[in-house]
Amino acid sequence: MVRADKPRFTILAASDTYLEITSSERATIIGRGFFEAFPDDKDFDQETSARNAFSKVLETRQKVEVPTYRYDVFNAEIKAFEVRYWSCCNTPIADGTNPVAYILNTVIDITGEVKAKQIAIENENRLRMAADAAAFGTWELNLKDLHLVYSPRFTEIFGHPPDASLALADVRSQVNADDMQNIVIKAYYEAVITGKYWYEVRIYWPDGSLHWIKTQGIVVYNEKKEPASILGATLDVTESKRDEIRKNDFIAMASHELKTPLTSLKAYIQLLSKKLASSEDRFVNDALSNADYQVNRMTGLIHGFLDLSKLEPGKLQLKIEEFDLNTLIEDSIAETGMTGRYHKISFLPGENITVAADREKINQVIGNFLSNAIKYSAKGSEILVCSKKNDDFAEVSVTDQGIGIRAKDQEKLFQRFYRVENRQVKNISGFGIGLYLSSEIVQRHKGKIWVKSKENKGSTFYFSLPLPAEF
Ligand code: ADP
Repeated sequence: MVRADKPRFTILAASDTYLEITSSERATIIGRGFFEAFPDDKDFDQETSARNAFSKVLETRQKVEVPTYRYDVFNAEIKAFEVRYWSCCNTPIADGTNPVAYILNTVIDITGEVKAKQIAIENENRLRMAADAAAFGTWELNLKDLHLVYSPRFTEIFGHPPDASLALADVRSQVNADDMQNIVIKAYYEAVITGKYWYEVRIYWPDGSLHWIKTQGIVVYNEKKEPASILGATLDVTESKRDEIRKNDFIAMASHELKTPLTSLKAYIQLLSKKLASSEDRFVNDALSNADYQVNRMTGLIHGFLDLSKLEPGKLQLKIEEFDLNTLIEDSIAETGMTGRYHKISFLPGENITVAADREKINQVIGNFLSNAIKYSAKGSEILVCSKKNDDFAEVSVTDQGIGIRAKDQEKLFQRFYRVENRQVKNISGFGIGLYLSSEIVQRHKGKIWVKSKENKGSTFYFSLPLPAEF
């Protein structure tokens, strides 16, 4: 407490905590003028200075707060000044007729809080710099009022100057209408459920040019655990997308060209097989059946590549029809033909299951599960195919007793071109597109695809399709 004897402000009393915070001793400050005792008040001219605060108290006769006051305290231990931050309050105390006879100066040490805040601001700036360096546009969408805040880079990604002002509706109006309907809206509802927001779509700049953007975000929840906002980053991926499209076009063209000679090769092999069916020469028959097997494999690969190039948005069309799933599974097993001749493939059908789906595409998924089970398990081992009806879903599974898959690889299997890297797989041919295609096909049917596997024990691949009423 100080006497209000301007300009001296004599210190009359100080609590132990006050002495501790100000690193001073009672004997050296009591009876001295406030600014003699604390001469380091360099902020004299500024709003936050103690002199200014005391004068204001005298002038207004009201309490004056200084929320953040910087004071450099000498630390005898390290023999250097230390920056401290205090939150101060100066309360007038009356005596008789004098409304401001004394000033009660209280001090709270907030150095920890101020430093934490400074670090947080520094980190935020650093993050922003990293995002800018990576050419990310960052943004936050308030889910209550759909208010959008964003970094300058975000507007640039949408073809506007960095200081442009954009509302959610403006941004959405630039997204390709089909992508908006099929991708963005879906991703938005999925985000509310899963907490993760992800999509890749086409947008049109104000100058009419087409660009590709990729957005990734997370849902931020409030104290009531309700989704409050989505925090995300958007990147312009036009260049890599163009490369991908060029690559896909090339694959599509090359596969298409390869199909014709391969079809005639197959026809010749079949003709020869017929002609030589009665031949006693075992070598000729074996050679022909092996040639037929290899041609079938190559045809399968080429079809896979063709399908891959059709996976651009809107290109993979489904021909939905109702059919019996068990019959299709039997057909798929029969189609493994020569490839499956060294394995014991059994089928355990559930009750009759009618599904509404693209028959040919689902056949492709089952065929892929089967050919993988054959490829990745030892000759002579068993493969079990099961079908069953769950509440609203039909489920198909293919179990093998093969090499299995490590847990860390399992989640990546359905990515494009992903192949497990180990000694066992090295010599088995493949491009890592079968499961990716299967997963795309199943997802477009609103179904699910997953795997359970143990290394060196075997794997079970599953997929499920919604039953017609729910479709
Ligand atoms: P491909 O077999 O042509 O490489 P897929 O997309 O069908 O491509 O499979 C991706 C990868 O998943 C394979 O390379 C293989 O490592 C692994 N895999 C798939 N099916 C099985 C299986 N039944 N057992 C063990 N590994 C498998």
